[in-house]
Amino acid sequence: MKRPKPLIQKRDSHNVSRKDIDPDAVKVLYRLHDSGHIAYLVGGGVRDILLGRKPKDFDISTDAHPNRIKRLFRNAFLIGRRFRLAHIKYGDTIIETSTFRREPEEDTRKKGEFFHERDNTFGTPEEDAYRRDFTVNALFYNIADFSVIDYVGGLKDLDRKLIRCIGTPDLRFKEDPVRMLRAVRFAARMGFSIESRTWRSMRRNASEILKTAPPRLLEEIYKLFGYSSGAASFALLKSSRMMAEIFPELVAFLKARRCRAADFEALLEALDAHGDEYAAPKAELIFAVLLYGMFEVRHAEHVERGESPGHEVIRDMLEPLMPRLRIPRAVGDRLVHILDAQHRFDEKPGERRFSRERFVGQEVFQDALDFFAIRTAAGQGDPAILKDWQDGVAADPPPPHASRRTARRRPRRGRRSPPKAE
Ligand code: ATP
Ligand code: MG
Repeated sequence: MKRPKPLIQKRDSHNVSRKDIDPDAVKVLYRLHDSGHIAYLVGGGVRDILLGRKPKDFDISTDAHPNRIKRLFRNAFLIGRRFRLAHIKYGDTIIETSTFRREPEEDTRKKGEFFHERDNTFGTPEEDAYRRDFTVNALFYNIADFSVIDYVGGLKDLDRKLIRCIGTPDLRFKEDPVRMLRAVRFAARMGFSIESRTWRSMRRNASEILKTAPPRLLEEIYKLFGYSSGAASFALLKSSRMMAEIFPELVAFLKARRCRAADFEALLEALDAHGDEYAAPKAELIFAVLLYGMFEVRHAEHVERGESPGHEVIRDMLEPLMPRLRIPRAVGDRLVHILDAQHRFDEKPGERRFSRERFVGQEVFQDALDFFAIRTAAGQGDPAILKDWQDGVAADPPPPHASRRTARRRPRRGRRSPPKAE
């Protein structure tokens, strides 16, 4: 297939500069270049610098094959079974370096196969650009002459603030449904729109989303609701129909107006404000925000029936969700405690029927308090009570918690060593 020539922006007509790039990534780019290879900064690193944002990580692509990369860098580790890429390690920093690759031609794909199951093949820089997900993610910064190379119209889409699939959206989403979540994530995080053909295809293919391997799905969910973009992500997940696949119980609950949509949205916004644009909140806080409305309604129903609801209310809610998303048991357990602890925060200081010390001493206390702070910011908690707890904890901080293993082992060894910090 004949493809148009790339658009090349010379060094002085864009804002990407070496000082915005992690010095270790610059080192890798130069070492490859000095060894006679093509070396590009790729993906989110280029996109974010062009937008004036701080990139999360810096990925590099090159024509050097993995074994060559390994020889050039003593600190390179090859990972991946089918397509090997190099992790070049500098202390805690990893610079992911991959060899240009292409996707197999459409007619050589076997029916029913997905992206991650196929072998990848090395390719040219152009082919590497076309195998990427969205135009704005396929820009290259060339260390040889500091130019930005655009094969797919990504620069124009950055200007227009558009997330547009490279290639035929139906096909690209079928081969890797995670791309639909990625589209939502980028649109939500950067305040972009999703181009109409891409968007229509997402709505058509929403039901494919559960074909994603659960660990990838869960990781994407964490990213969607982290980085201060939970409210925008939720809106797009809902209107793209993906939310109804991932979490039908919640969609049905909101549709039946069993809690006020405004209350639910306020919690998401408070989670965004609580977090950080560059970090993800704890998984259990994300799920606490998503489930709190449902929990409150079910809890109230039990109380109305004269029962005293316990953990089972929350466990019932979690039951369908845990296997669908493979939420780790530890996250589920902490979530149960966070939600269960909320009614304690609703009791006035003089009316408490539990031991403050024991509560504060629980491992999950700080997370429960963080969630209460999120609720309060969303107008669903009493600010005076929150302040009372926060002041109390500041004046008399709980001891650091023993890890589960230490806690289990200590009585057996009969020693009273100070508990280890988490
Ligand atoms: P982030 O800011 O979250 O790191 P990113 O765009 O850098 O965003 P990564 O997951 O780090 O995303 O991936 C790096 C690049 O690899 C992407 O920009 C894109 O070009 C390509 N890529 C990643 N995942 C896919 C995918 N599922 N399909 C096609 N290309 C992908
Ligand atoms: Mg990245």
